[in-house]
Amino acid sequence: MTAGTDLHSTFHGIGVSAGTAVGPLVVVTPAPTAPADEPPTTDAAAVSAQVRSVLEDVASGLDARAAVAGDHARPILEAGAMMARDPGLAMGIDTQLQAGKGPTNAVTAAVEEYCAMFESLGGYMAERVTDLRDVRDRTVARLLGQPEPGVPTLSEPSILAAHDLAPAETATLTTDTCLGIVTAAGGPTSHTAILASQLGIPAVVQAVGILDVPAGTTVAIDGGVGEITVNPSAQEIGLLEERKRRRAAALAGGTGKGATKDGYPVALLANIGTAEDARKAAKQPVEGVGLFRTEFLFLDRDTMPTVEEQTATYTEVFEAFGDRRIVVRTLDAGADKPLKFADLGPEENPALGRRGIRLGMIRTDVMDAQLEALAAAYKATNADVRVMAPMIATQAEAMWFAERVRALGLPKVGIMIEVPAAAIRSRGILYHVDFASLGTNDLQQYTMAADRMQGELADLLNPWEPALLDVVALACDGGQMMGKPIGVCGEAGGDPALALVLAGLGVSSLSMAPGKVPAVRTALGLHTLTQCQQMAAAARAGTNAVEAKAAVMAMADPILGDLL
Ligand code: PEP
Ligand code: MG
Repeated sequence: MTAGTDLHSTFHGIGVSAGTAVGPLVVVTPAPTAPADEPPTTDAAAVSAQVRSVLEDVASGLDARAAVAGDHARPILEAGAMMARDPGLAMGIDTQLQAGKGPTNAVTAAVEEYCAMFESLGGYMAERVTDLRDVRDRTVARLLGQPEPGVPTLSEPSILAAHDLAPAETATLTTDTCLGIVTAAGGPTSHTAILASQLGIPAVVQAVGILDVPAGTTVAIDGGVGEITVNPSAQEIGLLEERKRRRAAALAGGTGKGATKDGYPVALLANIGTAEDARKAAKQPVEGVGLFRTEFLFLDRDTMPTVEEQTATYTEVFEAFGDRRIVVRTLDAGADKPLKFADLGPEENPALGRRGIRLGMIRTDVMDAQLEALAAAYKATNADVRVMAPMIATQAEAMWFAERVRALGLPKVGIMIEVPAAAIRSRGILYHVDFASLGTNDLQQYTMAADRMQGELADLLNPWEPALLDVVALACDGGQMMGKPIGVCGEAGGDPALALVLAGLGVSSLSMAPGKVPAVRTALGLHTLTQCQQMAAAARAGTNAVEAKAAVMAMADPILGDLL
């Protein structure tokens, strides 16, 4: 539905980070285009000096943002600054200026030449095209005397609207000034969704029409149910406030271990990606870490970090959690998480290519260095460390990984179930390891053959999809047969209603952005295991995701509605 610029309207997207907010809308500045009627360059040397100085301003601006950014955003911003200072790019612009192009058209043409070259190289280099175009947009805007595109500096607490947000943009936001995020594109497992919930900012994606709402308009958003109200009435704001109060009341008090009403334990764990995340999450009432995405430490590194450097980081993370468990995932490089130092070159379909464990089995130097560092950090801390591999599809892969991990004296080894083959045959795979964790983001992508990065496929990527629940059930059956625990560490685990279904299917832990833990804890505490099992059966009996969720909500305690 389209919001239009009506004085008052309500429309829906997909709620991906719970919580409510009311505030003025700030629209992410769109990228400028080089004017077609720009006068040609006559004094190439003078214009070249001007463009170079603007490029330096762009680089300095990115450096300044990097200096205050968190661990997620810093490397991305630094990489942008490096590109703005690339002498090859400046020389390419000079060539265009000498041919007579005006400054903004010269920058655009030179960047496009560079992009074409990067794209032909594929893989990691192709991914850098977005960063390069970002440098172009900032440079063109400055040359035109306009504000740089992207998230403006928020001078008052606001709700941010955008087509979609780049990871760097989301990661630079703080809860002081960013009350909420609404994007027209993006899906439930997009970077916007993951990072917004990591930051605890209410967010709605797939809100088609949000960009038609003029900047400065007051909007109210509900990041749980995905509702957006433009120019809300005092009564509507009152209802939202009331919902906020009911939610806070439902969440109050619970800080203990996760369990159903009748005491069936479901460990509530945190997803982390950096040492900074670890320090923050360790202060929360979580039972440990269910997914440490180690590749986030190394996203923009040219060379592999040394064993010593990795050991220091892992030690820091392990120490933060004392005797609470920490499930570490070895590097999941490739596809949506390209790593410069672990790139095997261009592929037609990177998500179906040599990523995750497949890459680890080829680049044994990378795998062994990481395992050595993890073993050293374990020995130094004696923490409850459990190491798992991403993207396991076969018994052979599980066996290969388990042998390597055990040989180093690491106490527990597991695998991620993200490939339907591993879910279907979890019994045989679990024979070789101690535990498994369901990566529902990728499991859904592969079950539905729907690219998780493609927001337009959001309907197929709804984690309530009964086919995904069937695949999860198969995996859990294998776990039960082998007497080995299976957890969930994909985004599905942080949905309080879906958490009940997952518990009913037999999972023993749920790992999520720490901010989502209280709602899941409350939801579990309101229902017995038998109720969860009945909900799981009802959800699987649905013919689609919407029916599955509706069936569960109809059976649940009414308070559950306030937790979403
Ligand atoms: C998943 O696929 O569900 C998962 C947890 O891993 P990532 O999102 O890092 O691919
Ligand atoms: Mg995954």
